[in-house]
Amino acid sequence: MSGLERYDCDNCEKAFKAHSASNAAANAYCSPNCESEGKGF
Ligand SMILES: [Zn+2]
Repeated sequence: MSGLERYDCDNCEKAFKAHSASNAAANAYCSPNCESEGKGF
């Protein structure tokens, strides 16, 4: 019942775990830093 799933970051390709309902799951970035980098380039 944890809802945690494994994802690979779109920016740094690091594997991370996030709730399937979270922003990280929707965007597939391990951190806000990677999210802005991934979207900025
Ligand atoms: Zn990352």
